Amino acid sequence: MRYMLSSVLAATPFFTRFAACDRYASNQSPKIVDAPQVAINFPDVKGIRLLSPAFVDPSSIPATFANGTSGPTPQDVLVQYLKHLSRSNRYFTYHESEALQSEEARSIPYVTLSNGKRGQRLRIWIQGGMHGDEPAGDQAVLALLGKFAADDRWAAKVLEKVELLLLPRYNSDGVEYFQRALASSYDGNRDHAILVREQTRKLKRLQSSFDPHIFVDQHEYTGVGAVASKYIRAQDILVSANKNQNIHKDIRSLNQDFVEEIFSAIGEKGLRYAPYFTTSVSGNAITINEADASPAANHKNAGLGQTVTFLTETRGIRLSDQHFQRRVAAALIASTAIIDIAVNDFDNVYKTIEGSRKAFIDSRDDIVVLDEQQTTSKSITFINATSGALSNVSVTSKNSDPPSILITRARPRAYVFSRAWADVAERLRILGVKVDVLQQDYVGTVEALTIASAELENTKFEGITATTVTTTATARNVTVPNGGFWVDTKQKNAAFAFVLLEPEHYTSQVHYNTIPVEKGDEYPIFRVV
Ligand SMILES: [Zn+2]
Repeated sequence: MRYMLSSVLAATPFFTRFAACDRYASNQSPKIVDAPQVAINFPDVKGIRLLSPAFVDPSSIPATFANGTSGPTPQDVLVQYLKHLSRSNRYFTYHESEALQSEEARSIPYVTLSNGKRGQRLRIWIQGGMHGDEPAGDQAVLALLGKFAADDRWAAKVLEKVELLLLPRYNSDGVEYFQRALASSYDGNRDHAILVREQTRKLKRLQSSFDPHIFVDQHEYTGVGAVASKYIRAQDILVSANKNQNIHKDIRSLNQDFVEEIFSAIGEKGLRYAPYFTTSVSGNAITINEADASPAANHKNAGLGQTVTFLTETRGIRLSDQHFQRRVAAALIASTAIIDIAVNDFDNVYKTIEGSRKAFIDSRDDIVVLDEQQTTSKSITFINATSGALSNVSVTSKNSDPPSILITRARPRAYVFSRAWADVAERLRILGVKVDVLQQDYVGTVEALTIASAELENTKFEGITATTVTTTATARNVTVPNGGFWVDTKQKNAAFAFVLLEPEHYTSQVHYNTIPVEKGDEYPIFRVV
């Protein structure tokens, strides 16, 4: 499902409208060929071995990869490769189960890596294939597994400090149809706060139980079209840290330090990089939209477990097999750099994350209910579409470095609400939040929020017409019968409760209408302050 203005649709020529509409298992974006003067900017990366199926055994690549109608590695080839590596390597454990399948019951295999010894470890989760038409993402995770299998000295050193869960293909249905979305045509990377799709819930439960210190999601971006009719996007890879203000400041700072070091590693190989951005154009003026803090996307959501998170995006959508070696190399250099930083700076990284988690649990600081991006000026490197030359272009940047804070609120001691909202409790639990069941009636004073205004958006996003509210707070006595829910905020994953339960937030239950409210209503989740 896509974001669409009905008024735009009405004015759009038929062929464009057709291309923008969902059709079951048929949502491919056609291949676009880079002009020779553009393509020359993307030679193979020297001095790197890519030990993944497409490079180890090119005969496994179907002919459809070259015409842009499939990726290079069919599901059965991926499964056989993972099983082969796991059989022959003492550190690898292969996981595949009926409990973790796609919407159409394809397997979603993953591999855990551990040396089995006791001791402090950083847990790192790395995934690819969230979007089914971004093949360098899952290929890079396979190449990372190949590197672990082939380089025993490096693997042994890493696994003294780290445990990993590597999940190469999040969206096995999307890869099968070579489309971005899940089989249901729902964008799986917009589902991590509302948790509509069962596949999202399964994967989120696994993420919550693994509880990573570091989370990496490897994607590709669309860089083929000319921006402002004359510039082609030049970056081999975009990397962003988490910007959510409800993540402890030391974790956010560590996250950004990692990004700077990743950029160094990428630059040393002669590759071009930048923070993640999309572009929009008005007249000739280019605006770049950088990473925001919305926890609807998996990598941003994962940070709310007080976790260092990364989005990596190689230039790849609609390129089919063009520059594939360079794309996979760029993503592998980034994931390898993240692991190497975690290992080489282990004491600092471990202490910072664990210390910040403890500080977050005990914090009485205000929570951030709503923020928005700030606007600054920047210079970004593009490729001149006509000459092929690299050039620096002045742009307007919307970014969260830092965001503007719009609403803060005292951190409640707890949230309390009726068992009528068992579905809300279930969402919180999937996100790893401990939700207690009241063993006796709760009788006490709470902060109750009354809806001062409620506005329905005039567009749908992923099937939902969102509601934006303002509220006023009053103290009142309330009785919530036993069997109701109590969410203590003195816990590591409390930030998930903040973004789901504070009604003004842009991933709240009110935003998504899972708790429907109108002006004048009392919001039924109470704050115990
Ligand atoms: Zn993607």
